[in-house]
Amino acid sequence: MLGIGIDIGATNTKLAVLDKAGRCFREERFHTGQSAGPAVFLGRLGGILKAFKSAYGKKLVSVGVGIAGDVDPEKGLLRFSPNLGWKRMEVSAPIKRMTGLRCFVENDANMAAWGAYVLELGRGPGNVLAITLGTGIGAGLILDGGLYHGATGSAGEAGHIKIVSGGRQCNCGGCGCLEAYCGSYALLREAKVRIPDIAAFVNKYSVPNREKLNTVCLTKAADSGNKTAANIWAEMGDSLGRGLADMLLLLNPDYVVLTGGVSRAARHFMPALRKVFRVQQLKTPFRTVKIKVSKNADLGVYGAALFGLEKAGK
Ligand SMILES: [Zn+2]
Repeated sequence: MLGIGIDIGATNTKLAVLDKAGRCFREERFHTGQSAGPAVFLGRLGGILKAFKSAYGKKLVSVGVGIAGDVDPEKGLLRFSPNLGWKRMEVSAPIKRMTGLRCFVENDANMAAWGAYVLELGRGPGNVLAITLGTGIGAGLILDGGLYHGATGSAGEAGHIKIVSGGRQCNCGGCGCLEAYCGSYALLREAKVRIPDIAAFVNKYSVPNREKLNTVCLTKAADSGNKTAANIWAEMGDSLGRGLADMLLLLNPDYVVLTGGVSRAARHFMPALRKVFRVQQLKTPFRTVKIKVSKNADLGVYGAALFGLEKAGK
């Protein structure tokens, strides 16, 4: 029995075919190309799903989809995604039509949380807060061993918690949101303001074949002792720490799992984050919580496949 996982992010879409034990049989990825719109996107997705169907046939039993935005898991649709710019998009119905398989749709961070819970923590501790650090910030919650949706499926929209009154502009249209301080788009926006010669900076710190300003470049600069880059990461850690501190006071999780591309810069932002935790007045949830930075870049897509299999009862 195999499940297809799909992780639709603002930049890339990943697909994987997994069995229940988490073994991966096939992976694909493509540029989401959000500006071309949902119809073009679904066309490209359909091509890959068709190839999966012809390769694995009746072994496939389910599809799990994680998508970056506010999702209605009951109806299987995306209500709104600030970073994709898509609204009211049917997700499970077209995938069901294309594959003939049961399809379960969740917010992408929920799927990453499920992946973290099953693959990284072996379903051990019951209370897990998974934070996805990418273009935006998402959160997924495992409470008492189950994925927590909230009343409308919107639980864990942590990126839009307001951490600064009237603060920086967020992609959602609001101001002062956590992701307007910690999302990669916000970090790069700061870098462009503070670094006087961006071309020289990119030339010095980018990796081959990716000669542009991105968080990899910003991490490499901090590794090399660039003060501006180090300050941007430290400020990000402070902001993330303040946002997370509120979540820890509310939820008292056993584990916080940090995942997503930006988590690779953990060595640069964790000291500031831990400092925020140390100065809290209610000590217990901050002393007991274990923070894990996931090394698995595919928790979202793996979690989606495993969640689909779980929901299909396979
Ligand atoms: Zn926002």
